Amino acid sequence: MIIDLHSHSTVSDGTLTPSELLAHASKQEVDVLALTDHDSIDGLDEARKAANKLGIRLINGVEISTSWMGQTIHMVGLGIDPTHPPLTDGLKKICEYREWRAEEIGRRLAKKRIEGGYEGAKSFAKGGLIARTHYARFLVDAGYCKDIREVFKKYLVRGKPGYVPGKWAELEEAVSWVLGAGGIPIIAHPARYRITAGRLRKLLGDFKQAGGIGLEVVSGSHNTDETQTMARTAKKAGLLASQGSDYHGPENQWIELGRLRPMPDECKTVWESEFWPEGKL
Ligand code: AMP
Ligand code: MN
Ligand code: MN
Ligand code: MN
Repeated sequence: MIIDLHSHSTVSDGTLTPSELLAHASKQEVDVLALTDHDSIDGLDEARKAANKLGIRLINGVEISTSWMGQTIHMVGLGIDPTHPPLTDGLKKICEYREWRAEEIGRRLAKKRIEGGYEGAKSFAKGGLIARTHYARFLVDAGYCKDIREVFKKYLVRGKPGYVPGKWAELEEAVSWVLGAGGIPIIAHPARYRITAGRLRKLLGDFKQAGGIGLEVVSGSHNTDETQTMARTAKKAGLLASQGSDYHGPENQWIELGRLRPMPDECKTVWESEFWPEGKL
């Protein structure tokens, strides 16, 4: 059975629409898919219609941008009720902040003689929310950089001209939205954060204390060593393991939907737990 619990559509910074994403999942023989757009659940209705036609089990998901001790941490929520008001209100606030931040990135880049950034990013966002990814696509398209990676390095990370420090929901707050919506809170791609082992333990301790349940042990952005490390980390922290490709579309050749490293044997997974929506798989 192929289970992929982290993916994006054009509702956030993916390049496939929810229907196209589900069609691709079907081609990849994915059995269970979670759509987890950044800070939005707007793609879930369309995704569900497509999933029903294709016989794919769709899990309602979201990837919430949060702040923990001044650092941005992504938290996936799985099996959420997408009508739960504290969740929908919270996401709406984050999206309002995102809109301001997108304009601010544009203003900062303009000071570096990069004009039309906001309009460019907005057109790449195709009506969805604006992420740094859309700025990156615009800057590559406009010839400022050779690829997305270079844009992030030169313009969009801390200390660079287009960087705006994220003011997201507090981690504990986001955990409570997801729990309130009947979902499972999971720390996304833990090996991606620039963080010491000690600080990661503190993060996971605080997360667990707030009601957090899972850690994304297997991720499209983790190598084999990181996967092993995160399997041990999850066990020590008393967190269940999750897995997801973090697929953003076919343009990124390194990450494919449903194609994941194996879950380490020692892990207890979220989908085999009592927390899983509609019972175990
Ligand atoms: P945002 O949430 O607007 O800050 O944008 C974050 C998104 O940018 C992530 O979800 C990734 O899709 C993408 N991203 C972040 N860092 C990089 C990077 N170094 N290279 C390519 N994409 C990145
Ligand atoms: Mn993204
Ligand atoms: Mn993320
Ligand atoms: Mn993601």
